Amino acid sequence: MVMFEITEVHAREILDSRGNPTVEVEIYAGEYMGRASVPSGASTGKREAVELRDGDERFHGKGVRKAIENIEKKIAPRLIGMDVLEQRKIDLMLIALDGTGNKSNLGANATLGVSLAVARLASYLLEMPLYKYLGGTNAHILPVPFMNVINGGAHAGNELSIQEHMMAPVGAKNLSEAVRMGSEVYHQLREVLKKKYGRNAINVGDEGGFAPPMKDIEEPFEAITQAIEEMGYSEKVMIATDSAASNFYKDGKYIVQGKEYTAGQLIDVYSDLISKYPIISLEDPFAEDDWDAFIEITAKLGNRVQIVGDDIFVTNPKLIKQGIERKAANAALIKLNQIGTVTETIEAVEMAHRAGWNTMVSHRSGETADDFIADFAVAMNTGQIKSGAPCRVDRVEKYNQLMRIEEELRDSADYGKG
Ligand code: PEP
Ligand code: MG
Repeated sequence: MVMFEITEVHAREILDSRGNPTVEVEIYAGEYMGRASVPSGASTGKREAVELRDGDERFHGKGVRKAIENIEKKIAPRLIGMDVLEQRKIDLMLIALDGTGNKSNLGANATLGVSLAVARLASYLLEMPLYKYLGGTNAHILPVPFMNVINGGAHAGNELSIQEHMMAPVGAKNLSEAVRMGSEVYHQLREVLKKKYGRNAINVGDEGGFAPPMKDIEEPFEAITQAIEEMGYSEKVMIATDSAASNFYKDGKYIVQGKEYTAGQLIDVYSDLISKYPIISLEDPFAEDDWDAFIEITAKLGNRVQIVGDDIFVTNPKLIKQGIERKAANAALIKLNQIGTVTETIEAVEMAHRAGWNTMVSHRSGETADDFIADFAVAMNTGQIKSGAPCRVDRVEKYNQLMRIEEELRDSADYGKG
């Protein structure tokens, strides 16, 4: 059996796309090195694995020196000497060493950085692309990119309650055509917004999408639909949302664009929106604790659109299992740093797929140039990814990596869910 012993582990503090510190890890087997860095959310679910921050005077409390120290002083001594090809064994060691169930001891930013760097090093050592190492011989589906072109909520300085208004080129013939269509619609949207709202409207939010000064819930959908139509892509490019509704849930009510709604009334709002606009997917339409509303919307609209759970499931196999049993959605958003190891993330994806659910691999609003999620989406054959707008390096690097993978797979690649 081939074995590659881990010889050295190093971690450092780097900056993410918002200028906040995050963890970068380098793991060595002799002269070979695998490097990975960890993203960070702004609208986080409260059951996510814990991101360790120093809370001192450096970086407004956001320093990650404790996580770095945990990697170098606690994890490294256990990791050195282990076989880099034993991803599952290494991840189980990290989970046991942490011992808390939510990574609050070592920090999910520490465990994930290590877990990702181990996978990347293994793929280098085997001289295998990462998607193939993680996914095996059947990793072949290039995911539909869900591109967040109008930012709101916690990701922008405008008044939009809904956090993400995405477009999805489902009718493209392949991934590179989807990226082209996405870029074309994005630039057309820029013109639409500039004409209607002025130059202020084309500033961008955290995920590279525009953050226009819109007041009404329908305005983003109107503008995106117009841009899609003007490009002649009406049947090919669809719309999706992430409401991130935990952020506008207060005392049992949802406050959207200054108006108050019960969960039942908000279902009517969504129902109206999907009748008027080519919407195919609704993520976090309700708050993370409002399971009843998730169950109701899945029963009422789940046969017309995809209902994706993010904050409600936080990539946690236990919560996804409950979601499946209670029919609280029909898809799960997948974010590696919500759970903190590659192995647990794979479990989450597999659990969802076994139940017939869709999965969508996701970036975080605070990203780095690390493109791990592109390979991961292909490895898991998820058929869907969201990585922000087709703009800003932290976002497009994932789409660019997907184009490289498509080029490599050529005729054996499929696009989307088939
Ligand atoms: C999301 O909510 O899906 C998202 C990507 O945002 P964040 O990373 O801020 O949680
Ligand atoms: Mg979300």
